[in-house]
Amino acid sequence: MAAAAENDFMDWLRDAHAMEQQAEQMLTAQAKRIEHYGPLKTRIEQHIQETRRQAERIESCIKRRGGTTSTLKDLGGKTVAMAQGLSGMFTGDEVVKGAMAGYTFEHMEIASYKSLAAAAAMLGDHETKQVCESILQEEQAMADWLRDNLESVTTQYLQRAETPGATAKR
Ligand code: MG
Ligand code: FE
Repeated sequence: MAAAAENDFMDWLRDAHAMEQQAEQMLTAQAKRIEHYGPLKTRIEQHIQETRRQAERIESCIKRRGGTTSTLKDLGGKTVAMAQGLSGMFTGDEVVKGAMAGYTFEHMEIASYKSLAAAAAMLGDHETKQVCESILQEEQAMADWLRDNLESVTTQYLQRAETPGATAKR
């Protein structure tokens, strides 16, 4: 495969690695603040563990291909925009905004790993392809969970907001 394809592929792997590092930071900040939405907090904490492992697995792919993650790559505002969504976290409805932003972020991850898996297949890197497909399943499961629970988080939030003395936002 041509050097241009190899360069793009390595850039994309580094983008994915940076995305996972940012995901870990965002999810950790989010989980720490949640008090009254137990299932959401538990699911996010589970995904933090998955996310750490994802970063390690992508780093292994990069190293196996002779690359390094030491250069901090500019994310071009892609995940930065997501971070802003999640840091809308100090608003009165932060738990709802956070769940929505998480749902969006997981879909960006799904798109990234679908694209990466296709690139890995084209470049004949079957191990990276398998890693990307495996991570993709975890992102899809998290997205599905948020899809299935966004309504209940929203209605619980509204109920708490109507209850005198209850804290709704987190
Ligand atoms: Mg991830
Ligand atoms: Fe994820």
